[in-house]
Amino acid sequence: MVIPVSNYEFELFKKFSSHDAFPIAEEWLERLKNLPSVSDGQISGELRRGKYSIDHIDLVLAVENPAAAHAVVLDALYPLYVQEDSENCITILLPSGIKMVIWLAPAGTQYIFRLLLTTGSENHLDKLASLAAEKGLKLNHSGLFQSNTALAFREEGEIYSALGLPWIPPELRESGDQVAQLRTSDLANLIQRSDILSDLHVHSTWSDGKNSIAEMAEAAMQLGYTHIAICDHSPHLIKKYTDASYFIQQAAEIEQLQKDLKDKLTILKGVEVDILPDGSLDLPAEMLAGMDIVVASMHVALDQPMEQATARLIRAIENPYVNIIGHPGGRIYPMVDLIDLDWERVCRAAAFNQVALEINSHKSHPIFDDRKVRLAISLGVEIALDSDSHNTAMMTNSRYGIAIARRAGLKCDQVINTWSLTHLKLWLKRKRELISKAR
Ligand SMILES: [Zn+2]
Ligand SMILES: [Zn+2]
Repeated sequence: MVIPVSNYEFELFKKFSSHDAFPIAEEWLERLKNLPSVSDGQISGELRRGKYSIDHIDLVLAVENPAAAHAVVLDALYPLYVQEDSENCITILLPSGIKMVIWLAPAGTQYIFRLLLTTGSENHLDKLASLAAEKGLKLNHSGLFQSNTALAFREEGEIYSALGLPWIPPELRESGDQVAQLRTSDLANLIQRSDILSDLHVHSTWSDGKNSIAEMAEAAMQLGYTHIAICDHSPHLIKKYTDASYFIQQAAEIEQLQKDLKDKLTILKGVEVDILPDGSLDLPAEMLAGMDIVVASMHVALDQPMEQATARLIRAIENPYVNIIGHPGGRIYPMVDLIDLDWERVCRAAAFNQVALEINSHKSHPIFDDRKVRLAISLGVEIALDSDSHNTAMMTNSRYGIAIARRAGLKCDQVINTWSLTHLKLWLKRKRELISKAR
């Protein structure tokens, strides 16, 4: 399946990154939830659906006394520019240029219903309205009605159960079709943050990271991970080295650190090796053979025609030492470099060669998105979910990758970062065995 680059353009260029918007939304939500007259609140809209690029921020607040709460919220927003102001909705323009819409709803049924409506999507809500009609109910912007009486709800799941559905996670509310096709089993074990045991692609000061391996390891333990792979760039991208011998010194540092850490965390020796324009890799086989895990990524010559780029990536996938393809598809930040790929051929090659494709949580790399992840899974590809952190703070970015995985409907075990270290090691060992059998 070929997904033309032009399909992404509206999404990527006309909107804000969730990486920028989410922390702002969280900060405002915290501030507004603590105001008198406000009893609860949630981030809603496209951010709640886990989209990686959004048009604006939606917040929904549960209030006790709407008129009093409205005045208090307006006060708290001063001196920001209020674009629109009505009894139950205030729209402001934040200094960052992002629009924020704050919905006020009386606590209880109206708050829950407002949360459902503002989460959307329109397609999803249309489908819910049709389902309601089939059941002799009426769903509109005021509520869910049975014989003109509004039904009462304490939580969102009750609205779904009135329609004969399980509660549908917001990330799966993108299209109406999903409602029609969903079975309860699709929703069980949808991947979540607590399932993630490892980050298999992080950088350190050995390449262009800002923190040492010890600091990255400490951050991984803080997140509750059991293992981490240090995957610094190969020399092609990192001009500070003339050859690859720094990986030998790095390995010694990792071994020493591992002795200190004992079994608190396992550090895997990895690399993010550059895929050169012809599909060969930037490190010799002997060097790759010494790594615990190999991530291979394209960073240069991203403007190749589709046929050439696809052949290049498949050549890298067929390299017997490659375990993960890092951020397939290009980048959008700081410059836009999208690679047109024949995704179906890439996925078939990845599945055949036991190479995982990576959902990359870095702001630059949402190109392998939920639509392509669905295709990959349908063709038997394993998925990695990494932060590609260049400092310790970036490790929490995995939540953006998790949103992509949830939008793709991924189950816990379909992502290799949810596997125990033993399971992962078996997977890596099996690949090495495939190499020796093929020889
Ligand atoms: Zn990279
Ligand atoms: Zn990287």
